[in-house]
Amino acid sequence: MKYVLVTGGVVSGLGKGVTASSVGVVLKACGLRVTSIKIDPYLNTDAGTMSPFEHGEVFVLDDGGEVDLDLGNYERFLDVTLTRENNITTGKIYQSVLEKERKGDYLGKTVQVVPHITDAIKNWIESVSVIPVDGTDGPADVCVIELGGTVGDIESMPFIEALRQLFFSVGQDHFCLIHVSLIPVLGVVGEQKTKPTQHSVRELRALGLTPHFLACRSAQPLLENTKQKLSQFCHVPVGNILNIHDVPNIWHVPLLLRNQNAHDAILKHLDLSSVAKPPNLQ
Ligand code: ADP
Repeated sequence: MKYVLVTGGVVSGLGKGVTASSVGVVLKACGLRVTSIKIDPYLNTDAGTMSPFEHGEVFVLDDGGEVDLDLGNYERFLDVTLTRENNITTGKIYQSVLEKERKGDYLGKTVQVVPHITDAIKNWIESVSVIPVDGTDGPADVCVIELGGTVGDIESMPFIEALRQLFFSVGQDHFCLIHVSLIPVLGVVGEQKTKPTQHSVRELRALGLTPHFLACRSAQPLLENTKQKLSQFCHVPVGNILNIHDVPNIWHVPLLLRNQNAHDAILKHLDLSSVAKPPNLQ
């Protein structure tokens, strides 16, 4: 199993869900089978009890799971049928660990965030990523994981640590990290600012994860010197800096990625170039 992790920096609501779904679409168009997992670091077990005014509509899956609306994006973009397990929340993880603790499964050990919660997260990801979701048998080739929230949030720390461990255990060519970040333009200066992204990458690196790709959300396409600066200061090759500027319709985002040959770079990173075919996207 190859993993593509999508994290977000600077502010929430940047388009991590749309970016993660679009990466999935492009990989699927290259002939790969794709599944997805959405991680929501809140304590609710699922989105069923959350106000739609605060959180957006609840999306109901075929198995009755009440989940984050991003799962709806994944189902529509990737033409898959996900299960309630494809949406991981802090509440679900703690519930499973506490149930095991009550049954005595930890054999008298002190139950802690590290390693028990982080192990539960890793095991959950590894077991859910192999559930077939596209109507054919066997596990998918790639699992796209979206980590909700913003890097640096206290809530997401156990997930970041679990994902760091997962990366270490599966290795570089099985794990690709795409960090979605904001490139604002200050009205008075009129310049694309890279500092917020530099800070969020530094935060991520301090937690042991270095992004392989930057997906930059901006009003207008990135200028060449903005890309150079990001590459130099964020330690990401310039060819792996993806431009995801505002588009009138989110269905354009997969095309935006394809036009920048993002699929080639991701497939190369994951050592999948030999099994993939040119993307079939219109
Ligand atoms: P996050 O997962 O980071 O919270 P979402 O993927 O849910 O963000 O996107 C937040 C909002 O931004 C959605 O309404 C989405 O349609 C919009 N959006 C995302 N990417 C783009 C884009 N490239 N251009 C225009 N709107 C976008």
